[in-house]
Amino acid sequence: MAELGLETIRTRVQDDRSRIVDLLRDKIALASVSAKGITGDHMRRSADYVAGQLRQVGVDARVVQAANPDGTLGAFEVIGSRQVDANAPTVLLYAHHDVQPVPDPSQWSTDPFTGVEKDGRLYGRGSADDGGGIAIHSGALHALGKDLRVNVKVFIEGEEEMGSRSFIPFLQAHRDDFASDLIIVADSGNWSADTPSLTTSLRGNADLDVTVTVLEHPVHSGQFGGPILDANTLAAMLIASMYDDQGQLAVPGLEGGQPIGGLQRDLDQAQLRADAGVVDSYRLAGTDSLASRLWTKPAAAVIGFDAHPVEGSFNVLADKTRFRISLRTAPTQRPEQAAQALADFLIAHAPQGARVEVTPGDMGMGWAMDADSPVVRQAEEAMRQAFGRDPVNKGEGGSIPFIPELKRLFPEAQVLVTGPEDPQSNAHSPNESISLQGLVDNIITEALLLDSLGAGQN
Ligand SMILES: [Zn+2]
Repeated sequence: MAELGLETIRTRVQDDRSRIVDLLRDKIALASVSAKGITGDHMRRSADYVAGQLRQVGVDARVVQAANPDGTLGAFEVIGSRQVDANAPTVLLYAHHDVQPVPDPSQWSTDPFTGVEKDGRLYGRGSADDGGGIAIHSGALHALGKDLRVNVKVFIEGEEEMGSRSFIPFLQAHRDDFASDLIIVADSGNWSADTPSLTTSLRGNADLDVTVTVLEHPVHSGQFGGPILDANTLAAMLIASMYDDQGQLAVPGLEGGQPIGGLQRDLDQAQLRADAGVVDSYRLAGTDSLASRLWTKPAAAVIGFDAHPVEGSFNVLADKTRFRISLRTAPTQRPEQAAQALADFLIAHAPQGARVEVTPGDMGMGWAMDADSPVVRQAEEAMRQAFGRDPVNKGEGGSIPFIPELKRLFPEAQVLVTGPEDPQSNAHSPNESISLQGLVDNIITEALLLDSLGAGQN
């Protein structure tokens, strides 16, 4: 069966623009801040609204309250489907309807919970993250209308910004509602508003608590200092031993690779420095592409350190100290394996033979797209058509914990990570916004992709 084609889809999406913007404005006004309580009425209202919007585009959406792992009531989730042909592929569309809090509205130039259009962007909390994801799915289904030729399932989550606590029990309880050939997660973003991207990898993470002990009890630093190093200094030596002289992690057994799907364009050093607010004299650590250093190679950070505060300190040698390492792991390495490699290294490199003990903490698996799968080619082609330029794929240095979980629970399904954000979106920050032209092109992309997946069947 012939595909609808770019021009038909573009016309339909452009004709639908005001409905899509209204959807986003309504969504912003619902102020669905999950941090104020995922079981609150405001979250129920948000879920009901989203379900209503999905019903308007032919999905039999309903709101279901999830249960937490401990059995208590959890988030209001929106699920539903639109079945067109038992022989056609099934696509699961994911987004989330909860939003980040607004700790200080005075940092915003507009009211955070009123959608305000300005210079081609719509401002408001959740306009991009992830109201934009809901708008992409709604717009794509509207554009295809009765020409939809794939089966669609929808999951709009209610607690993504709170770490998706009830996600796994909910998925397990509703397995059939999620079983699909392709999962489109519209919760990331593009290289820029006019350059599309697939997000091809996420790093995993592992926390390790490390205790360094040198003495049975603290002793006077004048009397014993010299032959005996204090535990803080020994801990600093231990931490430094993880790095080579370029500042790169040099721990055997920690995997790290090149960007998944190849590197089309590297990140800009000056931009990275400006975004992070690095002091002028600082030299960036490592030598490879910035993309690989940020997305596909491991990184370690000391995120906690038990030492005596400077104020009120006195002349003693610390007997022991403890610090926590947050290790970001390569997308494809098991975090348990990476944590073990690091623990072995730290114990083997105990400075001066101090006692080093390592206790593993939270772990999360990373994720890497299957860059060779045909659906990736189809998605890239849809992006090329919709945006009129080649996609520039990217990774995420952080994690989106439910994506590896989806992959674990549905190993047969391909996962594509797309989304409405661009570098100006300020998701999680003041003045969040979405590019409306970018949104239109994202909708066209998703509609084209669903259309081509359906056409392939007939
Ligand atoms: Zn999000």
